[in-house]
Amino acid sequence: MGLEMADNYSEIDCDVLIIGGGLAGLTAAILIGRAGINVLLVEKKSYPFHKVCGEYVSNEVKPFLAQIGINFSKLLPSSITHLEVLSRSGKIEMKTPLPLGGFGISRFRLDYELYHLAIQSGVKIFENNRVMDIAYHGNNFQIQLSNGTNLKSKLVIGSYGKRDILDNKLQRSFTRYRSDYMAVKYHIKASHPENIISLYYFNGGYCGLNKIEDDKYCLCYLVDRNIFKKFKSVKKAEEQLLHTTPQLRKILQDSTFLYEQPLVINEFSFREKQAVEKHVLMCGDSAGLISPMCGNGMSMAIIAAKFLSELIIESDIKSKIFNRQPLESTYIKKWDANFRMRLRTGKMLQDFSDLNLATGILYLLNLNSTFTQWVISKTHGKKIV
Ligand SMILES: Cc1cc2nc3c(=O)[nH]c(=O)nc-3n(C[C@H](O)[C@H](O)[C@H](O)COP(=O)(O)OP(=O)(O)OC[C@H]3O[C@@H](n4cnc5c(N)ncnc54)[C@H](O)[C@@H]3O)c2cc1C
Repeated sequence: MGLEMADNYSEIDCDVLIIGGGLAGLTAAILIGRAGINVLLVEKKSYPFHKVCGEYVSNEVKPFLAQIGINFSKLLPSSITHLEVLSRSGKIEMKTPLPLGGFGISRFRLDYELYHLAIQSGVKIFENNRVMDIAYHGNNFQIQLSNGTNLKSKLVIGSYGKRDILDNKLQRSFTRYRSDYMAVKYHIKASHPENIISLYYFNGGYCGLNKIEDDKYCLCYLVDRNIFKKFKSVKKAEEQLLHTTPQLRKILQDSTFLYEQPLVINEFSFREKQAVEKHVLMCGDSAGLISPMCGNGMSMAIIAAKFLSELIIESDIKSKIFNRQPLESTYIKKWDANFRMRLRTGKMLQDFSDLNLATGILYLLNLNSTFTQWVISKTHGKKIV
C-alpha cells in the first residue's frame, strides 16, 4: 500500500469507514449506524446520481428493504414476473416465469432513498470525495481523501464497486489482467410489456430491457470493448452491432431517449476476487461481480452488506482489545458459502456468450425448462428478511 505514515493520525475518527455509497455501502452504513457504532461513508459522487445498471432487482431482498424503511408505495417500482431471451436472429428462444420475480427501479431513486435512510440512521456521509489510498498500521487504518483530509478508522469496508484505483493500490490479483467489457445505459420511453424483462443477444454482447418507475424503461447493454472500440462513436457501434437484432433495432429507432448522452462504464471483468484484502472487508462488487445476465448483483450486494454488518455489530469493535481475525475469517467463510458458486455459474454463462455459444445455451434452456430453473436456482438465493 502506497500511503506514507503521517504524524497527524492520532485519534480515531470513526469505528467503521465505508468506501463507496452504492447499495452495499449504504445498506451497511444504515445497519451499522443504527447499532450505535460510529460510521462514516465516503462517496466520490453527489447524491442523487445515475449509474450504469440494468435496474432489475430480484425479490430476494424486497422484504428486507421494506423492513429497513424503503417505502415501495412511494418509489413505485414496476413488478417483473417473466424473463424472455431473444437470439441474434430475433427469435424468442425462451420465455419463463421468474420463480421469485423482481422489481424495476432506477438507481437514481433507490440509492437516494437509502442515502436518506443512512443520514437518519446517524451515518456521517462525505460526498463528492474520493478515497485515494488506504494503509493498515498498528491495528488501525489510515485513509486519504481527495480533498486532502486524512482519517483514521478501526475497520474499513470496501464497497467501491467493480474496479477502482484502490484495487491497484491494494495489489489485488485481478488487476493484473485486462478488463474485457464495457456497458451503456439509457432511460427510455418504450412500448414493451410491463412485467417482462427481455434479454436481447447481438453481435458482441447482450442488452436488457425492463420497466422501472413511472412510465420509464431501462435499456442497458454489455459489450466486448475490443469489438465496440472499433467504431468511432456509440451511435455508430449501436447501428453496426445492436441493430443486427431486429427487435432491438426497432426499440432503438422508435423509443424516446431521456438522457442527452448515454451513461457508459469501461473496464470491468468477472474474474474472482477475495472478500478480505489486506484487512479491508470487501462487500458488493468489490468482493465479486456476477454477470449481469443473472440479474441479481444488486440483491447480492445488499445481502452481503447485511451479513457483514451483523458480524461487525456482534464483534467487540468498541473494545480496546478488538481482534479482527475472527471477524475476517467468519466473513470469508460466509461470503464463499453464499456467493462463490453463484459467481462461478454466472461466469460460465458469460463465457458461453463470449464464445458465441449463446445460441447453444439458449437452445438447451428452451428445450428443457428444468434446466432453465436449475440455472436460475444456481444464480439466485432465497428471500431474506
Ligand atoms: C451492465 C450491467 C448491468 C447490470 N444490471 C443489473 C441488474 O439488472 N440487476 C442487478 O441486480 N444487478 C445488475 N448489475 C450489477 C449491479 O449493478 C451491481 O452488482 C451493484 O451495483 C453492486 O453494488 P455495489 O454497492 O457493490 O457497487 P456500486 O453500486 O457500483 O457502488 C459503488 C460506489 O462506490 C463509489 N466509489 C468508487 N470508488 C470510490 C472511491 N475510491 N472513493 C469513494 N467512492 C467510490 C462509486 O461512485 C459508487 O457509488 C449490472 C451490472 C452491469 C455492469
